[in-house]
This record gives sequence, structure tokens and C-alpha cells, in this order.
Amino acid sequence: MKRMYMALAMALMLMAAPALGEDDGEISIQQTAGIFIEEVTYDDVAWNFPIDLSEMDPDLVRLANKQMFLPKDFVPDDLVTMKTRKQDKEGNNLNGGVKKDTGGTLKLRAECAEALVTMLEDAMDEGVTLYLKSAYRSYQTQATMYYNRLESNNGKDLGYVTKAGASDHQTGLAADLIPKEWLGKGMTRAMGVAEGCKWMANNCARYGFILRYPEDKEDITEINYEPWHLRYVGVPVATYIMENGLCLEEFHVELQAAIDQFLADGGRMSLVRDFIQVSAEND
Ligand SMILES: [Zn+2]
Repeated sequence: MKRMYMALAMALMLMAAPALGEDDGEISIQQTAGIFIEEVTYDDVAWNFPIDLSEMDPDLVRLANKQMFLPKDFVPDDLVTMKTRKQDKEGNNLNGGVKKDTGGTLKLRAECAEALVTMLEDAMDEGVTLYLKSAYRSYQTQATMYYNRLESNNGKDLGYVTKAGASDHQTGLAADLIPKEWLGKGMTRAMGVAEGCKWMANNCARYGFILRYPEDKEDITEINYEPWHLRYVGVPVATYIMENGLCLEEFHVELQAAIDQFLADGGRMSLVRDFIQVSAEND
């Protein structure tokens, strides 16, 4: 669809349109026969992707998975501690930990933390109570978790705990949330039927979050369905991913194709370099 518009835009430009500007990222909107066409160009090279470069933060869309490892020393520099805002009748900390004793130890990157608090408060206004169970995990914490899980599973990797460097939690942008009605029932795929999880799936994109491990993408993410695991990517990217039923890996395939095209058309490497990720050594 997008490509068709682009082709149409080019054809119309040849006919009558004023020249595109010289500036980076100029958006030219032309009206011809009642059709609005929007095209973003950088030095006259089209950025042919549903989301403009200026609306994506390379840091926020960073991938961590079994193919793309984060470096051992990767620690987000703006982690903030999730503070308790409210408590329910049983003394559970809303927004900041599933029980009192975990409150104050959960950290997220600042922008993600702010979006999460807003989301949790809005959810509560709609009668949905979600508890933050897990947030940032360091490389070392993940390494210990992986080792312990392997030990308890007789050395078998069942796909719930990832190796150090491959965990979304190391980005500081991942949050595991449990709906109140599911407390004590265990973190299994069955949780997806909980009203709180349905609310998350339907509303998270408005706050910049995606469901990081969807049920129908297990073969791509290589992680079992996790209805509790949200990942912050920013509103434009989250909206695109959730509306199109993608997972973050698929988004990256599309983004990489757009980058390749942009560079092939003569686009400047400096504009897209930060989006090109290279895996750290995995040991
Ligand atoms: Zn998680």
C-alpha cells in the first residue's frame, strides 16, 4: 500500500509538484485532485517506512534475543527505581512491586517507568489492577537465573529463562505484570485469559508498550508466549507493531529492509547507523 502511494507521489511530482526541500527530513504534502500524499525525504532520498526516523529511538527498539546478545557491560544509564504510589487493602504495592518486600528494588529506564506508571494508573481507573513483578535485570542476575533454572530442570532449557545477554529485561525497558486476579496462580501461558492480560494486550500500545512474546510468534521470538511481559518501544513503534500483529523481531526485519533501501538509494549512513545492531559475543 505504502509503495503504491510512493509511486503515485513520484508520478505526480514529475507532473506538477514544486521541488522538494533541501533540508533533512522534510515532509512535503501535496494536494492533487483531492489526494493528500505525504512523503518524508532526507537529502531527497525517500525514507520508505511506515514510521519516520524522527519518531523512532534506536535505544528503545534495541533487540535482545537468542541471536542478538547485549554486551556484558550494557547497563542503561537512566534507570530509576519504581516507587510505591498506592497500596491495596492487602498491602500489595501497586505500581512498584508485587509485595512490600520487593518494592523499591525494581528499576526501569526513566521514560519507560513514567509510561508504565501512567498505564497502571489508567488501568486502575478502569478497574484493572496490575502488579509489577519484574523489571530491569543485569547481565549477572540473568546469568544466575539461567543457571538456577537449568539446575532445577535437570539441565533442560524449557524456554522461559533466557541466557545472559539475550534477555529483554537487560534493556531496562521490559516489565512483567501480573493481574490482581492472577496472583498466586503462577506465570504460565494460561494467564492470557485473565482480564488484566486482555486489557494489557488491547491498551499497552497507547503507552508505548508491546506484548514482547505473542502467542502466535513463538517460532520467531524463540520464547514461549508470555502474556505478562511488556516491552517499551515508544508510542509510534508500539502502535505500528500492535496494529499489525508483529513481534519485535519482525519489526526489525522490516526496518532493516527499509534501511537497506535507503542506503541503496544514496541515503546517508549517519542517519540510520544507530538502528543497525550487531550482536555481542556470546559466551
Ligand atoms: Zn519478562
